Amino acid sequence: MNISNLKFDRKYIWHPYSSMSNPLPTYQINYAYSYKLVLSNGKKLIDGMSSWWSAIHGYNHPVINNALIKQIKHMSHVMFGGITHIPAIKLCKRLIKITPGNLNCVFLADSGSVSVEIAIKMALQYWHSLKISKNKFIALYHGYHGDTFGAMSVSDPYNSMHRIYRNYFSSQLFVDISKYRFNDIWTNDTSHLDNIIKLNHHCIAAVILEPIVQGAGGMYFYHPQYLVHIRELCNKYNILLIADEIATGFGRTGKLFACNHAKIVPDILCVGKALTGGTITLAATITNKKIANIISNNETKCLMHGPTFMGNPLACVAANASLKLLNQYNWKKCVFMINKQLKKDLLPLINHEMVIDVRILGAIGVVETKYKINIANIQRWFIKYGVWIRPFNKLIYVMPPYIIRQSALKILTNAIQKSLNVNSNFIIT
Ligand SMILES: *Cc1c(COP(=O)(O)O)cnc(C)c1O
Repeated sequence: MNISNLKFDRKYIWHPYSSMSNPLPTYQINYAYSYKLVLSNGKKLIDGMSSWWSAIHGYNHPVINNALIKQIKHMSHVMFGGITHIPAIKLCKRLIKITPGNLNCVFLADSGSVSVEIAIKMALQYWHSLKISKNKFIALYHGYHGDTFGAMSVSDPYNSMHRIYRNYFSSQLFVDISKYRFNDIWTNDTSHLDNIIKLNHHCIAAVILEPIVQGAGGMYFYHPQYLVHIRELCNKYNILLIADEIATGFGRTGKLFACNHAKIVPDILCVGKALTGGTITLAATITNKKIANIISNNETKCLMHGPTFMGNPLACVAANASLKLLNQYNWKKCVFMINKQLKKDLLPLINHEMVIDVRILGAIGVVETKYKINIANIQRWFIKYGVWIRPFNKLIYVMPPYIIRQSALKILTNAIQKSLNVNSNFIIT
């Protein structure tokens, strides 16, 4: 086919959440290293996205690369049914060690959405085994848990990109948490949630939430005390708590896990995204022995899930290398320094006429604009400026690799600030 690569891409390849007839522009990246992406014309961009929360140590990291190369020479993959291997064993040991509390039974999944499906199945099978009929979930407005059907059912039914599927999956219960922002003074008024639970607890299998930070559903940060309260209610009414830490896990919010802000332990935990340092897809659903045993003693005697590429050794060694790295340098200090600078550079934008809110937590900086952003236009401008930032809706946000230099982060925040001043091209009013 005699057609340029980008033309082919535009005509024949779906991109995430994209149109096939009128797609947003795509940019060809030929190389990536540290906190930089290199375009096909050689231009270097400073990365503000960590490839959607995942590349926390930056790109092309020699430690992760070497682990992958070494593993390829042994085996890239082998089935996990009836077979085990050291990369998976090492990884599960590590995950049990660093995750909160007594979470010690690990199911390795192939993506974040799949790990959420497994968490949902675990909760349903748990109650099924106990012969108690509980099959509804409580979730949060503005929550996002993935693109598969179970995950979509617990994602915000009105504000999400998945609302058109609403009639195809079971309807769940949702609570509004807009009164409990992270930095607000804690009010004890949780009556909305309390009432929903009081009225419905007999049929609620689990509460599922992104602890503290809601990602793709709107980048909202909520109060740790709210999470503490949910944990208490779950205990009181015999409801499981599923924490989806796929975006927040491994330090992004300033704590190793966002649950640690509230010092709570969920019954089921999902991790993904940064797990392999942004190299290969891998996720995990982790629960405690009690739940695992009850699930394993039902009529099927097992958890009914088993992906073909479960426990992929390459993904496991990448995760082991990434977790080892996290242990070796002071990620907490890196995240703290990023946080300090994001606050200094972005918080003043709250006074900008185009801005309605600025939110900073850990190594996450969010600028919410008054109007919807024209993504194609603003990205073209960002690329010219030399940065990779990909806004959505009214949100311009950054979550750079932890290893970003101060001078580079300054360029990212400058880019955001300047983009607001040439906003007429970027804002859809
Ligand atoms: C990204 C994300 C998912 C889905 O993970 P995939 O690997 O894209 O399937 C689920 N939950 C949260 C909180 C996420 O940020």
